[in-house]
Amino acid sequence: MKRVSKALLTLAAIGISFGPAAAAAQPTGRPCANEANRHFDFWEGRWMVRAASGVLAGHNTITVGLGECALLEHYTTPSGYEGRSLNVYDASRGVWHQTWTDNGGLLLVLEGAYEGERMIMQGETTGPDGAVTLNRITWSRVDGDPDRVRQHWEVSADAGETWRTGFDGLYIRQSSAFDYDVLIRGGWVVNGSGQPRFAADVAVRDDRIVRVSREPLDPSRAARVIDATDRVVSPGFVDIHTHLDPLLRLPGAESHVRQGVTTALGGPDGSAPWPLTEYLAEAQALGLGLNVGFMVGHNTVRAAVLGLADRAPTPTELGEMESMIARGMDDGAWGISTGLKYLPGAFAELPELVALSRVAGEHGGFYTSHLREEGLGLIESVAEALEIGRQARIPVVLTHHKVVGQPMWGSSRLTLAMVDSARAAGTDVMMDQYPYTASHSGITILIPAWAMEGGTDALLGRMNDPALADSILAGIEFNIVNDRGGNDLRRVQLSRVPWDTSLEGQTLHDWAVRDGLDPTPGTGARLVIEAVRRGGANGIYHAMEEADVEAIMAHPQTMIGSDGRLVALGDGHPHPRWYGTFPRVLGVYTRERGVLTLEQAVRKMTALPAERIGLRERGQVRSGWYADLVVFDPEAVSDRATFAEPHQYSVGIDYVLINGRITVDEGTFRDVRAGTVLKRGRN
Ligand SMILES: [Zn+2]
Repeated sequence: MKRVSKALLTLAAIGISFGPAAAAAQPTGRPCANEANRHFDFWEGRWMVRAASGVLAGHNTITVGLGECALLEHYTTPSGYEGRSLNVYDASRGVWHQTWTDNGGLLLVLEGAYEGERMIMQGETTGPDGAVTLNRITWSRVDGDPDRVRQHWEVSADAGETWRTGFDGLYIRQSSAFDYDVLIRGGWVVNGSGQPRFAADVAVRDDRIVRVSREPLDPSRAARVIDATDRVVSPGFVDIHTHLDPLLRLPGAESHVRQGVTTALGGPDGSAPWPLTEYLAEAQALGLGLNVGFMVGHNTVRAAVLGLADRAPTPTELGEMESMIARGMDDGAWGISTGLKYLPGAFAELPELVALSRVAGEHGGFYTSHLREEGLGLIESVAEALEIGRQARIPVVLTHHKVVGQPMWGSSRLTLAMVDSARAAGTDVMMDQYPYTASHSGITILIPAWAMEGGTDALLGRMNDPALADSILAGIEFNIVNDRGGNDLRRVQLSRVPWDTSLEGQTLHDWAVRDGLDPTPGTGARLVIEAVRRGGANGIYHAMEEADVEAIMAHPQTMIGSDGRLVALGDGHPHPRWYGTFPRVLGVYTRERGVLTLEQAVRKMTALPAERIGLRERGQVRSGWYADLVVFDPEAVSDRATFAEPHQYSVGIDYVLINGRITVDEGTFRDVRAGTVLKRGRN
C-alpha cells in the first residue's frame, strides 16, 4: 500500500509541476493540441503487448486516459504487474515528460520528442533498492500501421557503458488484434442454472462473457487462452452472508476470492455500515478485489434510534427507523438483515420487525435473519421469520440455518417442513448455510439476552448483585448444556482472545484444566464471565449434528453462504469457513459424500443467491452477462482450513475472473482489484 500511495503522490506532484508550466508558456487556447493529437493517435485505446520480454512479458492490457496535454496509461499483465504512466507535454521546451511507477516500487522518469514517426525518450529508472539505471526508449509504427507499434528499450547501468537491449514489445491496438481478452478452452461448463454440464469454450471481452460456444473457438483470436481441460467452468460464487467489516483494511479480499467468490453481500446479522453511500464511495475509491453489496442492518438502525434499550419503540422512534431503512434502500441496499440473537435486535418484537421489513420489501428488498434462537427456541424462531415474511410481504432468508444443541438434533426435519409449507402458502422463503458442524460468534452468545441489556458494562454491574449473578450464571450454564455449549466444555473453542492469545484455539475445558478447575458447565459459566470481564472473546461452538447439516444442504431452497469474515493470513484464530466454505461444499459434500450433484452445488453458490439478492446479469455463465467466472478442478477442489489450523487457503480453484479480469491465475492470487460496488436498482 505504501508503494501505491507513493506512486500516486509522485504522479500528482508531476502533474502539478508541469501543468502550470505548460500553461504559462502559452497561455492562450490549447498549447499542446498538435503534439497531444499526435501522441494520442499513437496510444489511444486498449492495447495488447505481444512478443515482449522481461517484466512485461506475455499479454498486457494498456488503458489510456486522455487529458488536454497529458496522457495517463495503465498497464496490467496476467502475471500481476501493474504500472501507471503519466505523460505530460511541456510546451515551453517542446518535450514529452513521462513518469512511470509500478507495483514493484520502480520509478522511471523520461523525456523525449517525436522525430517523424519515431518517439525517442531517455531518462533514469530508480529501482526499489535505490539503484539507478539509464534508459533509452524508441517507439515507432510498424510499416506505418496505426494499430501496430514497435517499442524498443535499451538499458544501461552506467552512461559510459554500451547500451544493451532490455525490452522489446509489439503493441497491437486491441480492436484490430483480438476478438477476446480471455478464452477459456475445453472445459465443462456448469452454468449455474442447474442444467447438466456441457463441453464449451467461454470467451470474455472487457467485463462480459461474449461467447459460450459448444463449437471450439479459435484461440488465435484471444489475447489470453486458459486451458480448462478436465476443469469445470462455473459462474463466480456469490456469498450471500459475508462479514465484510474489514473491507477498507483488506480491500483485495484474498481470503474470499481464493474460494472462488466474486460477489459478496455484506451487512448480515443486523449489522451494516451506516450511512451506506459514504461507506460505498470510500470502498470503491480503494479498489475492490471482488464485487460487494450491502444490506441495511436492523441492529444498526435500532441502536442509532434507541441505543441498547430493552423496550418497544415509540411511534416517533419507529418512524425514524422506517425512514432510515428507506434511506438505506434508496442508497442501494439489497434488503434488511436482522440479528435477533444479538443486541439490540434481541429487544425487538414482531410488530417492529414487520413494520421495518415492509419498508424494505416495498423497495424491492429481501429479509435475511439470524434467528432469535437456533437451539431450544429454533422452531418458534423459524415461525417468527416466516410470519414476518407473510405480514410484510417480503422474501425471506433464514441465514446460516442450523440446529444447535443436543436436545434439538434432528429438528431440521421440522424446520424444512415449515419452509415447504410456508412456500406452498405463498411466502417466498429460502435458506443459506455454511458446511460445518460448528458455529462461530462472540462469547456473549452464551449469556441470556436480558443480562446483556445496556451492554457489557451493565452485565458486569449486574454480576455485583449476588441474586442477579446467580441467575446469569444459571442462564449461561443452561446454554452450555442445552444450546451452543453442546453439553461439553470441549465443544466451546476460543478463537479470538485479545487479552491472552495463548488461549486461542483452546477450549473452555482446556482453560478450566489449565487453571486447576473442575471442567463442569458451572465452571464454564464462570469462565465466560471472566472472558467478558477481561475484554471479551470469540468462540467456536461445536454443537451441530452432521445429519442436520446434510439435510439442510440437500433442500432445494438452500444456498451456500460462508458467514465468513475477510481475514489476513495468520490473524487470530478464525472459524475455518472464512477460508474454506465453497471448496468444502464442492469437495466434501459433493465429490466425497454425494449430498449434492455438482450442478446442484454450483447452483446453490451462484444463480440461486444472485436471484435472491436481485443481481442483474450475474450468477450464470451466459453470453452477455458479466464475466465473473471460476475455473476449478472437480477432482482436486478442497478446503484446507481446519478448526485447529484455520489459516489455510483452499486448493483446486485454478482461475477466478472478476468483471473479466483474471484475479486468480493458475492458483495464484493477483491483487488487481477488478471488483465494484453493486447497488440495488443500479446493478
Ligand atoms: Zn449470524
